[in-house]
Amino acid sequence: MEKIRTRFAPSPTGFLHIGGLRTALYSYALAKHYKGDFLLRIEDTDKKREVVGSKEKIQEALKLFNLNWDEDLVIQSERVKQGLYKKAAEKLIRDGHAFYCQCKAKNAKEEGFSNQLRDPCRDKKLTSGAIKLKVNDNEIISFQDFVVNKKISWNTSTVSDTTLLKSDGFPTYHLAVVVDDSDMHISHVLRGHDWMPSTPIHLLIYKYLNLKVPEIGHLTDILDPDGGKLSKRKGSVAVEKMLQEGYLADAILNFIMLLGWAPKDNKEIFSLDEFVKVFDEKGFQRSNPVFNREKLDWFNGIYLRKLENNKLSEMVFKFLKEKYPKELIIKTIPLVKERINNLSDYWELASFFFEENKEEKKVDESLFGESREKHLKVAFKVINEIDDWNKELLNERLMEEITKNEFKTGDFFMDLRIAITGKKFTPPINDSIFILGKNKSLKRIKNYL
Ligand code: GLU
Repeated sequence: MEKIRTRFAPSPTGFLHIGGLRTALYSYALAKHYKGDFLLRIEDTDKKREVVGSKEKIQEALKLFNLNWDEDLVIQSERVKQGLYKKAAEKLIRDGHAFYCQCKAKNAKEEGFSNQLRDPCRDKKLTSGAIKLKVNDNEIISFQDFVVNKKISWNTSTVSDTTLLKSDGFPTYHLAVVVDDSDMHISHVLRGHDWMPSTPIHLLIYKYLNLKVPEIGHLTDILDPDGGKLSKRKGSVAVEKMLQEGYLADAILNFIMLLGWAPKDNKEIFSLDEFVKVFDEKGFQRSNPVFNREKLDWFNGIYLRKLENNKLSEMVFKFLKEKYPKELIIKTIPLVKERINNLSDYWELASFFFEENKEEKKVDESLFGESREKHLKVAFKVINEIDDWNKELLNERLMEEITKNEFKTGDFFMDLRIAITGKKFTPPINDSIFILGKNKSLKRIKNYL
């Protein structure tokens, strides 16, 4: 079998989107599963659309997800200087498969032929200008899509005389992608479904340049749970944003593994290495996956709980911009670890440990029960009397008093919880009091007496 070589070919037009990361992951896994090469190519020939810094950001993101590419990074704009694309376009001219065109886009519009598939310059025999593909009518062109496993055909009468090389010497995506995939010996091209309309153009260029067509596969669109395609404009599907929201890279990666591919069994948890082992092109799904955030949260919770407490504390510390004492985060992590799915959930549950002046602030009084006064008095007394500050003794003494006073355990602890934390849902309250310390706890209780 020839060596499998895949590539990820992003245009540096903004942040890496979840769909782009999926394309990169599947391309990587396909290559690595067959002990092949995974390459990275930056498609930056459309300088108008380029966003400064995104080239670097894309590389950083791939490295973060361990989707490391083989060989040197390929940058198309640098290859323009080598004259590769121009040479190919000129060969097409010589062979009668392309023509020079001097229509200005603006004029074309005015003259009303911008929507026409056949360009009026095609028979003018011009000798300079932009280079366009000369498409014959009524030929059938097809390929076997290896993702959906289906033969797809077009009649060339529906394919337009597409620009290949602009008058400034820069290739368009169509020419560059074919020249480069061929030059880089790419065996399998994987890309998003929205590129499907470009494929007949590419097939014609391959044919006219007499190049071997790689296997081509188009990944299904990821759907938004609210309907429609997941859109780049909704910022929350930017990979960078998801990381900022507190999702772990391993969880994001595991989540997208199954957005369009399924294993033979129902296994769901995969490290990247495990995924590479089981991945193959037979597992591609034909139905469109839905971006299900609950599922992502579930994955994130699993990966979060797999982390050692120290590591998780470090991540929370960093996530909270190093603003809060690390020692206190380390102490509180065991209390919340089972209850959070996301780094950002930590603050929801544990902010009360860090809030300064909480002792002076009042919470929503309506959260307390009817017996608040009695409950808090007893709690205050118990805590105040413990000299040897330890958790077991605290538990024991509180329980003794609850029994003695015939309090309802749940009600008692709820009032205590509200006084200490201001919230109804918190980590176990006795553990929290123990970590918070005697003084702070007493002050907070006193506040409501
Ligand atoms: N540069 C294209 C993109 O940004 C790549 C399409 C392809 O893989 O052929 O998605």
